[in-house]
Amino acid sequence: MSTATVVGSGPNGLVAAVLLARSGVDVTVLEAADTVGGGTRTVEAIVPGLLHDHCSAVHPMAVGSPVLGDLGLDRYGLRWRLPEIDCAHPLDDGTAGVLHRSVTATADGLGTDGRRWRTLFEQPARDYDLLGEDILGPLLRVPRHPLKLTRFGVPAALPATALARSFRTEQARALWLGVAAHAFRPLNRPLSSAIGLGILTAGHRHGWAVAEGGSRAISDALAAALLDLGGTIETGVHVRSASQVPPSDAVIWDVAPTVLAEVLGDRLPPRTARAFRRFRRGPAAFKVDFAVAEGVPWRAEAARRAGTVHLAGTGREIAAAERDVHEGRLPERPFVLVGQQYLADPTRSAGDVHPVWAYAHVPHGYDGDVTEAVTAQIERFAPGFRERVVGNSACSPGEFGAANPNFAGGDILTGAKDVRQLVFGPRTTLQPYDTGLPGHYLCSAATPPGPGAHGMCGAHAAGRALRQLRQLRDGRAS
Ligand SMILES: Cc1cc2nc3c(=O)[nH]c(=O)nc-3n(C[C@H](O)[C@H](O)[C@H](O)COP(=O)(O)OP(=O)(O)OC[C@H]3O[C@@H](n4cnc5c(N)ncnc54)[C@H](O)[C@@H]3O)c2cc1C
Repeated sequence: MSTATVVGSGPNGLVAAVLLARSGVDVTVLEAADTVGGGTRTVEAIVPGLLHDHCSAVHPMAVGSPVLGDLGLDRYGLRWRLPEIDCAHPLDDGTAGVLHRSVTATADGLGTDGRRWRTLFEQPARDYDLLGEDILGPLLRVPRHPLKLTRFGVPAALPATALARSFRTEQARALWLGVAAHAFRPLNRPLSSAIGLGILTAGHRHGWAVAEGGSRAISDALAAALLDLGGTIETGVHVRSASQVPPSDAVIWDVAPTVLAEVLGDRLPPRTARAFRRFRRGPAAFKVDFAVAEGVPWRAEAARRAGTVHLAGTGREIAAAERDVHEGRLPERPFVLVGQQYLADPTRSAGDVHPVWAYAHVPHGYDGDVTEAVTAQIERFAPGFRERVVGNSACSPGEFGAANPNFAGGDILTGAKDVRQLVFGPRTTLQPYDTGLPGHYLCSAATPPGPGAHGMCGAHAAGRALRQLRQLRDGRAS
């Protein structure tokens, strides 16, 4: 029987482990933290019974992920829940850009910009499940659906601000740029539309779903599937040297490339080691969880029904805030993302007290306290919010990195998503999951298709490992 070790139990590590175990490989997962899950953990941080997602919260990419769907995780308790409105982007005048799962409903709410929204999303959303075969993996390969990919890829190559100029209303511009800002990049750069278009297209197909009981339900289901297949999980094992890894036919690393360069050192081919050491980190998140009596009193009515609320004001303000963060300055009013997962999943609340998840985009490694700026940004669009806050709990960029080295400096995307790293991953190669050291594969969100709890990086890395294990087995047999 072949053996494999997976280092790290984020969604990518666990997906890789389950796929290997499902193919008959004897799999052991080593995890540094005391619990599995990486960026898919849920905690009771403030009030007993109130469930806060520590990291990932809203999952337009995971709910339609081909690999998560294929694993039948509903058998292990994973249930997706959809909010009534996917995302709202309130403005100071009390109006909002409103994103529904339906392209038609979204377009109808955007007035003169409705037609443009339809042109951008109607066909790609319809094609999303096929398009996923080309965009949810390495981008540089022969496309399976070249026409569909071209239709998606042409706007994706544009700066997000250029696409924003094609909208006439502030509601549409702000709605678009708020989603594009998930890329943590200056929004006037080429390809800064790609991540936003990917999220919106996936969302129009599958919705901005949350996992019932918290995002930990994703990793709990994967861990249960792995144990069912005979796999082993050891928590509290921080792998700092290759000697800690038991002898295995394949090792899959759900870690940042910089960490892998340290752990494997000279065993890596020099070119890989150099590329991994030079891996560029992105800006950071400063997170604040709130316990809020009776929810947030948003001025814009749509925001009261939205699973996600983006706060920055106009498109121009978003672009300026993202530029500041990229240049190492904390904006006076940073871009803030708010999650109201309890609207779709009431099991997370304790009576009338609800968990509200929020984080601001801040410079990499920022070491100040941004709690007040996050609170003020919410209060700006929801006067009276402060009085409803029962308690809060903050997580700084440094604390994110200390809890999970993949998020070092608060870089929650595991690497800057600049053009090179977005297209290739951590090194310029057509095989981004290979490390160049036989038997060792990288599966973290640093590899394509990048961040999110979709598990696709893990699926591709497991595919490479299984190919090599088959070759080994065939070699042994002959
Ligand atoms: C604040 C925040 C908000 C987010 N919001 C969303 C969202 O709404 N939707 C979404 O889809 N995604 C979101 N993400 C991103 C998402 O969480 C990550 O992209 C995803 O978890 C990456 O999965 P992964 O398996 O690559 O790595 P991770 O989830 O980072 O897991 C890696 C695991 O490996 C372990 N590990 C690392 N190094 C070692 C080592 N040397 N030895 C042993 N174990 C090790 C870590 O402890 C960790 O458990 C968010 C992240 C954060 C932090």
